[in-house]
Amino acid sequence: LMDKRSDLASHRIKLGGVTLGEELLVIAGACTIDPKNPSYFYETAVAVKEAGANALRGGVWKPRTNPYTFQGDVKSLDILMEASRRTGLPVDTEVMEESQIKLALDAGVATLQVGARNALNYSLLRQIGRAIAGRPTAVLLKRSIHMGPLSEFISAAEYIVAFGNPNVILCPRGTSPALDGYRNQPDESITPLLKEKTWAPVVVDPSHSVGKAAYVPAAALAAIAYGADGLCIEAHVEPAKGIGDDPKQALTPDALKKTITDAKALWALR
Ligand code: PEP
Ligand code: MN
Repeated sequence: LMDKRSDLASHRIKLGGVTLGEELLVIAGACTIDPKNPSYFYETAVAVKEAGANALRGGVWKPRTNPYTFQGDVKSLDILMEASRRTGLPVDTEVMEESQIKLALDAGVATLQVGARNALNYSLLRQIGRAIAGRPTAVLLKRSIHMGPLSEFISAAEYIVAFGNPNVILCPRGTSPALDGYRNQPDESITPLLKEKTWAPVVVDPSHSVGKAAYVPAAALAAIAYGADGLCIEAHVEPAKGIGDDPKQALTPDALKKTITDAKALWALR
């Protein structure tokens, strides 16, 4: 179904007023919503909208490498949806189990994110596919840090699409082993290869790929040069006050605004 020769090849995903493939899509916001300090997320939501983002991201449930660190909090789902109401932006958040899928869909989350750690979790992919069938919901499917051939990534998307909702967006976000100095091995360069094989839009996440705010703008522009349909960028009004990846990775609103302006200018040259 993901093949460019399938009947779905003319399908267009719409999110936040953007038709993917026709205009640049920017999803931006915090890595992790801090349930103890919701004003940071509300301010970030307004700032990313002002910077030109079309959709808001915010982590409610977090897949943390260390089980003794903050794992997220269901209270953040209310904060996410309140930020959506205040800004009018559709929201993206990661889900890791069936109960979370249901809570997110019932709350009105527009885009379910499958994280890099779960991109090879076929039972979760099936649960998501089943849950979004017949709904307008989209899925932002991250590339696993352990994925090899592109067919592995495309097949993961197929697990979701097979249930009938074709709104799957492929999201390269860097692989392992890391390029020394970056968080991962940046992989925006797979964009044209994915586009050769599948009709699915490609939205690159430069934040997790390079892992440091200073390198994110260049990686974002590289993704656009490679033909990406959009970007998913971590941003925070005061990165140092954030939690999760935000202190290291999040762009300030000014840096985000410049990156979006530059990305649009580069898009116009394609
Ligand atoms: C995230 O988007 O904050 C995240 C955990 O991403 P990934 O799954 O790509 O590591
Ligand atoms: Mn993150």
